[in-house]
Amino acid sequence: MKKVLITGANKGIGFETARQMLQHGCYVCIGSRSVENGRAAVETLKAKGLSHVEAVELDVTSSESVRVAREEIGRKTDVLDVLINNAGINWGMPQSSLEASVDQFKQVFDTNLYGVVRVTQAFINLLQKSAQPRIVNVSSSGSSLTLHSDPTWKYYSHKAALYPSSKAALNMYTIDLAYQLKDTPFKVNAVCPGFVATDFNNHRGTGTVQEGGTRIAKYAMIGPDGPSGKFIAEEYNPQTGETPW
Ligand code: NAP
Repeated sequence: MKKVLITGANKGIGFETARQMLQHGCYVCIGSRSVENGRAAVETLKAKGLSHVEAVELDVTSSESVRVAREEIGRKTDVLDVLINNAGINWGMPQSSLEASVDQFKQVFDTNLYGVVRVTQAFINLLQKSAQPRIVNVSSSGSSLTLHSDPTWKYYSHKAALYPSSKAALNMYTIDLAYQLKDTPFKVNAVCPGFVATDFNNHRGTGTVQEGGTRIAKYAMIGPDGPSGKFIAEEYNPQTGETPW
């Protein structure tokens, strides 16, 4: 049974991805910065008959929280097959390059980039024990530098600096991580779930969490011939998903 850790899995896309990975027959560890919300998510999944699940307290902005979660998981297993770096924030407004403050940038980067660095580095040796380790970094097509530089792109005028720059940085982290692991069985990709209705966007998204979760789960489960070091956004490229950085 594949063992999976998903950060920020107590609700939204992370929770739905957990549900789908359980349906794929995996054992899932729900990372949640709130113990209560993590336990509630586990109870909801168990009530649906999905029992191979537990919660771990995990705040990605705290090195101590990540260390304790790593210790706790390490006491129960000596292998992790899948890490889904899903926890993310957008901070709200203002997002623009002239208005968003340095403190706002720090907060968003602390979760969306440094959080991924903390968790990935803490769990990499457990992932290296897997025969087919997979890392999915949950990104956003709205962080593509290429698309944002193309005046013909339909969202060209939808500009922001704060949240997209954190995901663009995450994309670069993904490229380097995939490169560092290129001679191993690892598959490492940045995957956009689509514009999905969650608390994240006050439920203005046009897609469902089921659609978003399916996109993430697909790259968490890809076989040995699957891509690595790619930026995947199926709304941009419905065939391969491959999207310009
Ligand atoms: P959501 O419903 O707001 O869920 C975000 C999750 O991240 C929650 O579980 C939240 O925990 C958790 N989280 C936030 N900060 C955390 C921290 N410091 N440590 C641990 N967990 C933390 O948002 P979502 O739409 O499901 O977003 C999930 C991911 O998809 C994010 O990375 C987001 O950037 C990405 N994404 C979303 C969309 C979209 O349209 N929704 C589009 C592109 C990419 P709490 O419950 O404790 O707040």
